[in-house]
Amino acid sequence: MKFKYLGTAAAEGFPAVFCDCEYCKEARKRKGKNIRTRSQAIINQDLLIDLPADTYMHALNNELELFKVKYLLITHEHGDHFYPQELNVRGHWCAPNLKEKIIIIGSETVYQKYLKFTDTMSQGVRDLIEFRVVNAFDKFTLGDYEIVALPARHGSMTGFIYQIEQGEKKILYAHDTGFFLDSVLDWIKEKGVKYDFISFDCTNVDLPIEDFSTHMGLDNVERLTKRLKDMGAIHSKTILYVNHFSHNANPLHEELCENAEKRGLKVSYDGLELDL
Ligand SMILES: [Zn+2]
Ligand SMILES: [Zn+2]
Ligand SMILES: [Zn+2]
Repeated sequence: MKFKYLGTAAAEGFPAVFCDCEYCKEARKRKGKNIRTRSQAIINQDLLIDLPADTYMHALNNELELFKVKYLLITHEHGDHFYPQELNVRGHWCAPNLKEKIIIIGSETVYQKYLKFTDTMSQGVRDLIEFRVVNAFDKFTLGDYEIVALPARHGSMTGFIYQIEQGEKKILYAHDTGFFLDSVLDWIKEKGVKYDFISFDCTNVDLPIEDFSTHMGLDNVERLTKRLKDMGAIHSKTILYVNHFSHNANPLHEELCENAEKRGLKVSYDGLELDL
């Protein structure tokens, strides 16, 4: 399984679109891994996770052939994860050679957001979209992927963290969420799941945040990894990354790596590909 981070910032991007704070100014100077766009990842060439407004730039920067994407998992309806306007150009005169449907997976609230935009879509575009609503703890198959939608802790929102399995490999993509819900931890323990790779929400980095909040920072992730280790879900070969960083915290890549590595965590960046 090939997993690639396309965008690794929180909603505002990093540096943030309209911000001139010290972190943003420094990121603009340092460039490279300090330039983070809105949250998105791709598995192999056919499974895309989230659809932010930066999707087009991700395709260009990573030489992606997005017409090959068959499945799109949406974590939740926040604009940095689901920008349905982009679907308007998938088909009809914007992509006349496209004949294959894309299957979009999301919660009922994501579906409702999608429906608001279907009025502006041509029939040719709508015909190439199959939206499947899923609920918490639903297990489903997409091609050779076995997926489970686990509930995220993200305010009043129905967000999902997705467990994705292909062949021998099993990963957990955990954005946006606070400390995992007890029901999720119980489910992981009960099923005896063992992960090869986990991507954790770390929006707050070194700004303290309560476990019951909508995101996590390094302290929360460190405690969560201990819980997951205790139940055997994380083992000596599990690859652990933190991701989805806000400019309000301390997200300059070099300092962040130092801070995270002490805790056994690696730091994502835009364009990072993992061969799992
Ligand atoms: Zn987000
Ligand atoms: Zn800023
Ligand atoms: Zn969110």
